[in-house]
Amino acid sequence: MPNRLKMQDPRSQYPKPPFPEQPQAAPGLARKMDPRPDHGEESYRGSGKLDGRKALVTGGDSGIGRAAAIAFAREGADVAISYLPEEEADAKEVIALIEVEGRKAVALPGDVKEEAWCRELVQKAVSELGGLDVLVINAGRQQYRDNIEELSTADFDKTMKTNLYALHWIAQAAVPHLPPGASVVTTASIQAYKPSPILLDYATTKAGIVAYTKALAKQLIEKGIRANVVAPGPFWTALQPSGGQPDEKVENFGKDSDFGRPGQPVELAPIYVLLASQEASFINGEVFGVTGGKGVA
Ligand code: NAD
Ligand code: MG
Repeated sequence: MPNRLKMQDPRSQYPKPPFPEQPQAAPGLARKMDPRPDHGEESYRGSGKLDGRKALVTGGDSGIGRAAAIAFAREGADVAISYLPEEEADAKEVIALIEVEGRKAVALPGDVKEEAWCRELVQKAVSELGGLDVLVINAGRQQYRDNIEELSTADFDKTMKTNLYALHWIAQAAVPHLPPGASVVTTASIQAYKPSPILLDYATTKAGIVAYTKALAKQLIEKGIRANVVAPGPFWTALQPSGGQPDEKVENFGKDSDFGRPGQPVELAPIYVLLASQEASFINGEVFGVTGGKGVA
């Protein structure tokens, strides 16, 4: 594995399209992707920024959440990950990577569309980690539909439940447990600012995540807790080939970014670490765009 931190042209640092056609059923598995995404498995180095912290990452089995979970463990945190039961194979790899760092890992399979499960998963994380200081609400549903007629009520409902209701249920259950200095990080998207026509429901939830997090940040700072948003552009994750984009878009994924390639999940890890850590002591209610040059304003 080449040294991720060696100075180099970032445009040629990671794979570029065209990528092989690789449709999968949702939720997709990172282990089936070609090329395999870099979540920092071999490339992320920690330096004690989260020593002794207790973190919960939803969607921590794959993609962006997995990169955050691995980085948190390398920075010294115990980490609970939530994911869907169908993703057990991906989740097992993350659990092993956390444990190899000598950190505690907690596996929380279940469906965040269910309110009862959202509340239970927070309780389980708190009891098994012995508290909670870092909460990353990152699980998401993205299923493209070519036009408004094809976006059914069932689709709309699933996307709202996964991306917005679960955010509220998990945040509400967690807040009473968060001590001063704790950090909440949500994952929105460039779609909040520059929505694609084929992602009506998804883009709407992502704009909602930005507003919700900014409002929550104002409440939580009264308790000494910070909340911030990460808004990624195109990242090479299982979300895309599992119905997030049409196959031909997956083949050319990231081509229209200024880098001519998609981001790799590990390229977001430092932002999640920063926002989780005390280094971000004056950062609250902000949106961090990592879009490959498109911007979030
Ligand atoms: P991913 O598929 O690897 O991760 C999404 C995770 O969400 C899944 O692993 C799954 O565990 C979880 N999830 C989905 N539905 C769930 C449910 N009903 N119950 C429990 N868990 C559920 O893809 P990713 O790209 O890493 O996605 C992480 C976040 O990043 C999402 O919120 C996504 O919208 C956002 N995002 C991704 C991109 C991108 O280009 N990949 C861009 C902007 C934002
Ligand atoms: Mg997954």
